[in-house]
Amino acid sequence: MSGVSAGAAYEAAGLKFFGLSLSGIRTAISMPEYGLSFDVAQGYPHTLRMKKFFISHGHLDHAAGIPYIISQKAMHNEPPPVFYMPPSLVEPLTDIMKLWAKIEDHTYTLRFEPVTEHTRVELSPQACVRTFKTVHRIESYGYTLFSTAKKLKPEYQHLKGPALADMQKNGEPITQAIETPLVSFTGDTQIEFLDSAPWVKKSKVLICEATYLDRVKSVEHARTWGHTHIDELIPRLDEIEAEKIVLIHASSRYSDARAAQLIREQIPERHRERVELFPGR
Ligand SMILES: [Zn+2]
Ligand SMILES: [Zn+2]
Repeated sequence: MSGVSAGAAYEAAGLKFFGLSLSGIRTAISMPEYGLSFDVAQGYPHTLRMKKFFISHGHLDHAAGIPYIISQKAMHNEPPPVFYMPPSLVEPLTDIMKLWAKIEDHTYTLRFEPVTEHTRVELSPQACVRTFKTVHRIESYGYTLFSTAKKLKPEYQHLKGPALADMQKNGEPITQAIETPLVSFTGDTQIEFLDSAPWVKKSKVLICEATYLDRVKSVEHARTWGHTHIDELIPRLDEIEAEKIVLIHASSRYSDARAAQLIREQIPERHRERVELFPGR
């Protein structure tokens, strides 16, 4: 299972993804249309084309590729990529980059942006990313991609064009921003992520970790290592509104076929259509 993989394309709720995820080995899921990647694994080719990187935590299977991506971008004279990350990662990663600068006799421009629970990153007038807190063995965050749109305030909806134009001319705010959660990505976390922000369960696509898919490892074991067990997820499926729940980070003890089989067998029939294993591992 830990052989060479280049990643796989995946589509859900009209959104396109490319990436791969295997517990302890690699996790990087990109959304090329948005130029972003959730985690970077070891800096796989598909991540090199992205511009903004949302790092869930500093474990090597999620973040080892950061120096390589920085160097590749510099080599191709591209603008320095931006990495959003837990605050505790900024200093050690800056130190690591200083060492690489020494090894290579080359200085890089670093753009490491620490996040908080309330970070909102504007990608464009139509999209933004917000953070949510996750629970892992080291500091960690999840990220949600939202679509944003300006809509007429409900109290003005009965008004006609000329009246609205007049109000606009007078500088009155007649619209409000509406944000719709499209994709939430958890990185590694215990089940508590589900309640850390109100929009997580409402995201159209929920990409969440389920490291353990059978009883060989217990729920306690999963929690000790800061992960989620499928036995914790199943009782909560009814409250998750997502069109698709995409499981990532399944243990490398399961082959692709075995992991898919375990999911099929255990997910209640009414949820089976919308719970899937991410195809790239
Ligand atoms: Zn991991
Ligand atoms: Zn981890």
